[in-house]
Amino acid sequence: MSVVTRIAPSPTGDPHVGTAYQALFNSVFARQHAGRFIVRLEDTDRSRYNAASEGRILDMLDWLATVWDGLIPDASPRRQDEFGPYIQSERAGLHRQYAQQLLESGAAYRAFDTPEELDVRRKAAEARKDSFQGYDRRDRALSRAESDRRAERGEPFVIRLATPLDGQTVVHDRLRGEVVFQNADLDDKVLLKRDGFPTYHLAAMVDDHLMRVTHVIRAEEWLTSTPIHVLILRALGWQEPEWIHTPWLLSAGGKKYSKRRGDPSVEDFRRMGILPESLLNYLGMMGWSMPDGSEVFGPAEMVEHFTWERVSLGGSTFDVTKLKWLNGKYVREVLSLETVAQRLHAFNAEYHSAPAVPNDAYFRAVVAMMLPRFETLSEFWEKTAYFFSEEFPLTDKAAQLIEDGRALLPRVRDALAALPDFGHASTEATLRALADELGQRPGKLMQPLRAAIAGTSESPGMFEMLEALGQQRVLARIGRALN
Ligand code: GLU
Repeated sequence: MSVVTRIAPSPTGDPHVGTAYQALFNSVFARQHAGRFIVRLEDTDRSRYNAASEGRILDMLDWLATVWDGLIPDASPRRQDEFGPYIQSERAGLHRQYAQQLLESGAAYRAFDTPEELDVRRKAAEARKDSFQGYDRRDRALSRAESDRRAERGEPFVIRLATPLDGQTVVHDRLRGEVVFQNADLDDKVLLKRDGFPTYHLAAMVDDHLMRVTHVIRAEEWLTSTPIHVLILRALGWQEPEWIHTPWLLSAGGKKYSKRRGDPSVEDFRRMGILPESLLNYLGMMGWSMPDGSEVFGPAEMVEHFTWERVSLGGSTFDVTKLKWLNGKYVREVLSLETVAQRLHAFNAEYHSAPAVPNDAYFRAVVAMMLPRFETLSEFWEKTAYFFSEEFPLTDKAAQLIEDGRALLPRVRDALAALPDFGHASTEATLRALADELGQRPGKLMQPLRAAIAGTSESPGMFEMLEALGQQRVLARIGRALN
């Protein structure tokens, strides 16, 4: 039996970091076993459905797949096969059919409670401090004939799973071993809603089965739903997949990582100029590590070394500062200068973080100079306006340095103007000699000069910068600063 894994994101809003995390582990495991990795959009909760979100989730996966083709799904809403469609709502007819089958076998029953009735009873249970939070099973007692009669009369109903009232349901989780659930604590979950749409529980199990999913690798938050899933599968006479619930992703504050609480989405990271390589690398470090402890690795290395034994269950902190640091490492140490330049250029074209500039030798010289000075792509563009335009901002500190250097700057300008060669060795020798001549520390000349040509007190090395900008631009800028 060949391995089939899946992610099943719900299109409810921004593409989640958790979805990218699941995509990585599901695809790595599938590729390691020469299996298939599929993507299904679970859009049957119509109250939370967000149409634009579907495309954004698939775009996020496409973006990540630009750096590792193992992430390209073997089947998805954008890549059909005989087990599709991969948009769950388009399969609602199938789900209804299986709900009907469960009804007929007695594994499920119709419940006619109105939402108002349920609400009243729920509140009463709360007031009684009833520990059981689920459905009170009122309509489980209806006879088949009565239930059929009311349905025929057109009374709206949901179909609920008739969970066993005693005993236990055991979930075999690959990472946790046997997890035992008391059936008395299980809720008779709705399988089919009044609107004729299945709930997640029914739809996911029907689809996983029909799509031949062998390993359900998903977030820990679904573990408590798994006994329900096991019962649904058993009632339909289907084999269980292997269950693997991955550890929680936590934010730096220790809470569950959550877009709703303000943690960045994958799109936010992309807009920040985080590279797909570093995001995947960082996600790979969430609850897993390379056997040799290396911090820089990609999905291909994960495929080579991945084992569930190396997954730790404690919950992993997804720390944005650490991700940015790792991104800087990719920029400086992992990717070639050429690649970084291309990414920066493409990033600017996509997000217009700065006016367009040509991707030429000058641009690459600036990138090379800036390499130690930025972590994210957006940061590069924020810090380099003065390389590409005469209209660059002037910080207050730089303005002050220019003011303080007002007496020295004309001498600096004259010395630089006299140079036939503007290479870094030549400007360095000249400025050092001038400092000597004036009895000043070199910094006294460099600080106002840097402020005048870059508008900031932070910049790459002075002499490289002079060389890159060129004599004409440098002299003009000093002149402007003095005015
Ligand atoms: N639709 C669920 C989600 O949004 C999928 C859970 C699962 O993988 O079974 O995460």
